[in-house]
Amino acid sequence: MVHYGSLDVAASARRDFDQAVAYLSQDPVERALFARLEHGAQHVTLTTNRHDADYYDPNTHAIHWDPHSAMATANGGRQSPALGLGHEVDHAVHDGPREWQRSQTFDPRYDTAEERRVITGSERHAAHTLGEGTRTDHGGATYRVDSPVAMALIA
Ligand SMILES: [Zn+2]
Repeated sequence: MVHYGSLDVAASARRDFDQAVAYLSQDPVERALFARLEHGAQHVTLTTNRHDADYYDPNTHAIHWDPHSAMATANGGRQSPALGLGHEVDHAVHDGPREWQRSQTFDPRYDTAEERRVITGSERHAAHTLGEGTRTDHGGATYRVDSPVAMALIA
């Protein structure tokens, strides 16, 4: 594990993580989320996988991330794997009773109120800054890319 303050990153994930953070940090909202993640009272762990599994587990305080999984949105946009990491970091730094309540609150468009908060908040803000696609739902089709900051399909 490599320590970034209160965040532990699997050594094998370090390069992809650093690249994603450098890219996302062009957006002030993302920059603030990562600063909060690395200076929190709660210890969080980041591990990577190769099966499109991006999620935050509040029970283990673990972020799971596939650094080569990009997403095609329903409205024809594309999102980098890095933006997927930023999405999960927002869940991780807002891991309290209010967010738990939101995650239990159905939303007809975004599945839950917590997903609506993240998708229409930090995710959309960063997408605009970085020139990526935005989502108007909680869905998307994953595809493989060469790097965490890529959106081009691998031929
Ligand atoms: Zn989410």
